[in-house]
Amino acid sequence: MINVTKTFLPDQEKYLQYVREIWDRGYLTNNGPLLQELESKLKEYLNVDHLYFCGNGTIVLQIAIKALEITGDVITTPFSYCATSNAILWEKCTPVFVDIDRSTFNINPDLIEESITPDTTAILATHVYGNPCDVEKIEAIAKKHNLKVIYDAAHAFGVKYKNRSLLSYGDISTCSFHATKVFHTIEGGALISNHPELHEKLSLLRAFGHRGDESYYFAGINGKNSEFHAAMGLCNLPHVGEIIASRKDIFDAYDSRLNWDILERPERSADIEYNYAYYPVVFPSEGVMKKVMEDLAENEIIPRRYFYPSLNTLPFMPKAIACPVSENIAERVLCLPLYMGLPIEDVERIAAIINKSLLSP
Ligand SMILES: *Cc1c(COP(=O)(O)O)cnc(C)c1O
Repeated sequence: MINVTKTFLPDQEKYLQYVREIWDRGYLTNNGPLLQELESKLKEYLNVDHLYFCGNGTIVLQIAIKALEITGDVITTPFSYCATSNAILWEKCTPVFVDIDRSTFNINPDLIEESITPDTTAILATHVYGNPCDVEKIEAIAKKHNLKVIYDAAHAFGVKYKNRSLLSYGDISTCSFHATKVFHTIEGGALISNHPELHEKLSLLRAFGHRGDESYYFAGINGKNSEFHAAMGLCNLPHVGEIIASRKDIFDAYDSRLNWDILERPERSADIEYNYAYYPVVFPSEGVMKKVMEDLAENEIIPRRYFYPSLNTLPFMPKAIACPVSENIAERVLCLPLYMGLPIEDVERIAAIINKSLLSP
């Protein structure tokens, strides 16, 4: 069976060495030495000044919203994983969906301003598939209207835009280190911000707003992560280069074999160093896509409908807002298997099954 993804696992002995260290110390969580080591190595790798390793890629969105004291309406993208809009709802704010750009599948910056009202306080956008949002336009709009900007950079680990980590944009960027992502700590996430005045707050918010014996500052939450998760990160981080290189080979193999007379894919930004996080393809119709899915399933190949449905159509969203482009893409897009070690012969086989499926009625 070939799944859309397969989690990278490091050398077991190396991980067990860390586990034995943890046993010897008897210190399992609460800002332990491995967590601090991982944070410092991540800062170095990503070239960012401040980074807080947290429990997962959803709690960091919630902490980011809290830290920036965001209330009311939050402009966001309908084309993302539900964690993005769920975090907004969980923080008692209202997601205001702005449709995506037809070519990049990221929030369309030209549609943002018409959705701004006196209740709008922030923009929360996703760099979908690791492709950068139009960060310059978004920043200009945010400045003009005095809005905060959070980027859900769950897909953007290792991506550089204009020679700078994509995770360093916005008031706060968040990342996910879930087992399905390019770099993982089993479960995990991070908060990244260049605002010095936020740092103390972010570190406190992830740990109950409490420090030491008697200092209680505000109502924080438990967004911490453990030594065991940090150890997995320390084992995996040295492999990120080869993971991305292997993904690139698979990416190129799909690129050169799929039938682009019939299929489409999102436009890839020019000024980037990419991480090859996902391989999305868009089919002419949902019907064609479903037939391809069936043909792949017969061969035990399981792609995923990332991202479907368009988040604005979820029944629990408080404001009904049409996003025709996102709804249309979401119905027709599939992410194909992509992970380190997927043999190129399998990529060729997958491409051949898809091409054949497209040409047979
Ligand atoms: C994976 C993902 C998340 C959530 O991350 P978790 O670590 O699983 O909580 C959030 N946003 C996007 C866009 C994601 O793909």
